[in-house]
Amino acid sequence: MSGARFGPGGGETMTENTWNKRTKLVHGGTRRSQYNEVSEAIFLTQGFVYENAAQAEARFIESGPDEFIYARYGNPTVAMFEDRIALLEGAEDAFATASGMAAVNGALTSLLKAGDHVVSAKALFGSCLYILEGILSRFGVEVTFVDGTDLEAWRAAVRPDTKVVFFESMSNPTLEVIDIAGVAEIAHAVGATVVVDNVFSTPVFSDAIAQGADVVVYSATKHIDGQGRALGGVVLGRKDYIRGTLEPYMKHTGGSLSPFHAWMFVKGLETIDLRVNAQAETALKIATALEGHVALARTIYPGLKSHAQNELVQRQLGGKGGTVLSLDLKGGKAAAFAFLDALTIPVISNNLGDAKSIATHPATTTHQRLSETQRAELGITDGLVRFSVGLEDSDDLIADLSQALARLG
Ligand SMILES: *Cc1c(COP(=O)(O)O)cnc(C)c1O
Repeated sequence: MSGARFGPGGGETMTENTWNKRTKLVHGGTRRSQYNEVSEAIFLTQGFVYENAAQAEARFIESGPDEFIYARYGNPTVAMFEDRIALLEGAEDAFATASGMAAVNGALTSLLKAGDHVVSAKALFGSCLYILEGILSRFGVEVTFVDGTDLEAWRAAVRPDTKVVFFESMSNPTLEVIDIAGVAEIAHAVGATVVVDNVFSTPVFSDAIAQGADVVVYSATKHIDGQGRALGGVVLGRKDYIRGTLEPYMKHTGGSLSPFHAWMFVKGLETIDLRVNAQAETALKIATALEGHVALARTIYPGLKSHAQNELVQRQLGGKGGTVLSLDLKGGKAAAFAFLDALTIPVISNNLGDAKSIATHPATTTHQRLSETQRAELGITDGLVRFSVGLEDSDDLIADLSQALARLG
């Protein structure tokens, strides 16, 4: 964490680190201009003026925490977002990226070189799988895929030359939860760096770094924005990694975040705790109401007692199941399509963490590129519907989902 920081009164007051979560989310990382604005400013500028030639020279040799050169390297609004999310996560530092995928790619590629070995969970977001399967292998990195929920499989797969282990702490769309502390212990024993894509666990419920993750990645497009407006991402970790390894990679390869999007995310963080808690509460109500419905083969929600890793959910996520649930309809694709088309409040789309509830059919959209065998292996059946719970009234959502299920007969 870097930069001049100001308390709510405008002066440098108590240290931000002692604040509780909601205070950090509203005030953390604030940088005020000479106008002392209340709402954080958007510094929509690619460059910064130097007082004289010598100052320009000095800044290129070494720039201080609040000295900027070029927006691809850093920007005051982007720095506010980085500091605020780092404070929330208990991370030493953060680097904001143009999308969640720029964050995943940067986090992995900046750490790896030809000849290295990676162990990854196999239940991955399609684009993450593309990086691990399609890109890293082209540059001579060997990747072993394991069932992420099976600690014995991780133990068997790591080797002395394993540099990185990678997984989504809650998988998409089948919502398996991976034991961060358990995998970290196995990875650290061989000196590997633990990189966690933490989107589904959300920044609100997960303290992945305290659990043992070395590097945490978010797509800010999801809960951090929370209103489906902008692409963005962030990588969090120790200062030496973020500034020494990741920043040079990101700033020279062009994956930096737009100041305008950073401003949306700064404002999104102000309300994220309220939003995500409300969404998770509604998700639990919906899952509880629908579990056991005759039209459903399975109701998957990590907050349900029936979830296979509910014990881990208690330990790792404070019992919170997140904002997404998945419904496996008995009638396969026909039933899933009829169900989606009968919904009146949620929209059919593919984002998540939005204020609007969003229903997705993974087999024909987000996971269409996978082979039938791969989908079967990951539990992505033709009847599976992913449901990202929004901020609508929970009774309205339950009524709407129930009438859509009732039509399936
Ligand atoms: C959405 C998502 C990403 C990619 O984020 P973008 O902002 O769309 O690039 C990566 N991982 C997970 C788990 C996601 O849900």
